[in-house]
Amino acid sequence: MKVTEYFEQANGKTLVSFEVLPPLKGGSMKRIFDSLDPLMEFQPPFIDVTYHREEYIYKRRPSGYYEKTSIRKRPGTVGICAAIMHRYQVDAVPHLICGGFTKEDTENALIDLNFLGIKNVLALRGDARKFDGKFVPEEGGHHYAVDLVKQIAQMNSGEYYDDYIKDGAASDFCIGVAGYPEKHFESPNPDSDLHFLKKKIEAGADYIVTQMFFDNQKYFDFVKRCRAAGINVPIVPGLKPLTNFKQLSSIPRLFYIDFHSDLIKELLKVKDDKDAVRQVGIEWCIQQSKELKEFGVPCLHYYTMGDAKTTRAIVKEIY
Ligand code: FAD
Repeated sequence: MKVTEYFEQANGKTLVSFEVLPPLKGGSMKRIFDSLDPLMEFQPPFIDVTYHREEYIYKRRPSGYYEKTSIRKRPGTVGICAAIMHRYQVDAVPHLICGGFTKEDTENALIDLNFLGIKNVLALRGDARKFDGKFVPEEGGHHYAVDLVKQIAQMNSGEYYDDYIKDGAASDFCIGVAGYPEKHFESPNPDSDLHFLKKKIEAGADYIVTQMFFDNQKYFDFVKRCRAAGINVPIVPGLKPLTNFKQLSSIPRLFYIDFHSDLIKELLKVKDDKDAVRQVGIEWCIQQSKELKEFGVPCLHYYTMGDAKTTRAIVKEIY
């Protein structure tokens, strides 16, 4: 079923969903199942699986020189989606990115997803590769998520990139896109980011999932600004609990997100005690979740990072 249909059916009740990431190449599906089994009692209607572009690494050769090669460290998104659907009878939402895909690659990927009975896709641009500095699209691929949304919407009306196809079968994907309560880091200002978010909705996106945030007010303000700009689709808050002290500097650096001063104060009190830091992160996320549920969000979407224990400790206090 489509993500938006779940929201409609829930009739104002807040649902729960999870995001998992593929294991590093060489890892097993057991890792994914171990991270999801303890969470299935909360009955998530859908589970997202992230997609990871190839990365550059430098391999040392016997000569002593380093060679720049490209590898995919976390392949398997589509296979994992199929395995999740098979094991738990829930919908899986693969993330699909622009990076590394030509338009034809995208079309072929969408055909596979459609054949598998996958009804939802989260359409993203993807991040820059390490060492690239900025996002570089594949030759013949999309620059921005909006163009990917357009391609999916076109296939939904039976239009294929290979234009020799006449009367092509129309897919029926429900399309999710990313939104940034604290603005995307490349965006010159929040209004510009909102402008381009609206373009994704106008191109056919059906719902928004937000970047993590640690201050609910940022989400509330974001929703208000979206509604004022005429963006009326469901806006799902994405939540990630803080689990170690280092994240206090790494998250703002990597994701351009601020921490609430009360959270910083609590963390500083216990900074040398790993368990206590994790507990502060859990408690904070529980309070965030409770307030968001009270606000009536369609769904609480948790970035699990494979850590079922932490996610479970939070979700069991909410559901
Ligand atoms: P876009 O919507 O294309 O926006 C990128 C930037 O360009 C923004 O600053 C925007 O304001 C600007 N912009 C947009 N359109 C235009 C235009 N036409 N002209 C000029 N500027 C424009 N990354 C992964 O690699 N794999 C994943 O699985 C993944 N999952 C994610 C899930 C969620 C919920 C979120 C929030 C992010 C995820 N990401 C993932 C990270 C995401 O790919 C990055 O944040 C990326 O840098 C931007 O992606 P986007 O889809 O928001 O891009």
